[in-house]
Amino acid sequence: MIDSNYYIINRKAQRFSEMRIAGRTAVFMGSDGKVLDYGVLQLGQGVYAVLYCDEVRNVTFVTCRPGGADVITVLWRTDGEYFRGIEELRKAVAVRFSPQNKKLNRYAEAVAEKLSLGIKLRITDAVNDADMVKCPECGMLNPSGSMYCLDCGAEI
Ligand SMILES: [Zn+2]
Repeated sequence: MIDSNYYIINRKAQRFSEMRIAGRTAVFMGSDGKVLDYGVLQLGQGVYAVLYCDEVRNVTFVTCRPGGADVITVLWRTDGEYFRGIEELRKAVAVRFSPQNKKLNRYAEAVAEKLSLGIKLRITDAVNDADMVKCPECGMLNPSGSMYCLDCGAEI
């Protein structure tokens, strides 16, 4: 069996075959049944935001730890695995899940960067471009309600 789901932590991708939820922990395993390196995701207080996009079967966590923030993405190969996975995660994570468009990883990384600098952000849902506001400086589409551009930092 080929593992074709992906677990990506800080841009380093690993294939996984199965996710198991145990209380407030998600565990990602390869087809050999072994837990992946960094394949344990704590779903408790450290989770700052959960972004998802059904269209690309992507759930991205922004987690906070002393001295930084991490971006952890889970990508499923099939709709069946994705919808089952996101359903299980929703039950285990206290943070609201925020729907995004396909650019969610760029958004997640920008959020993590701000968190690392000690800046807390309000997470905004952005399902389609109509919910986005264009940055007057660089033209990047930001979630509506953003105070400043996530790309260049200009005031919106
Ligand atoms: Zn900008």
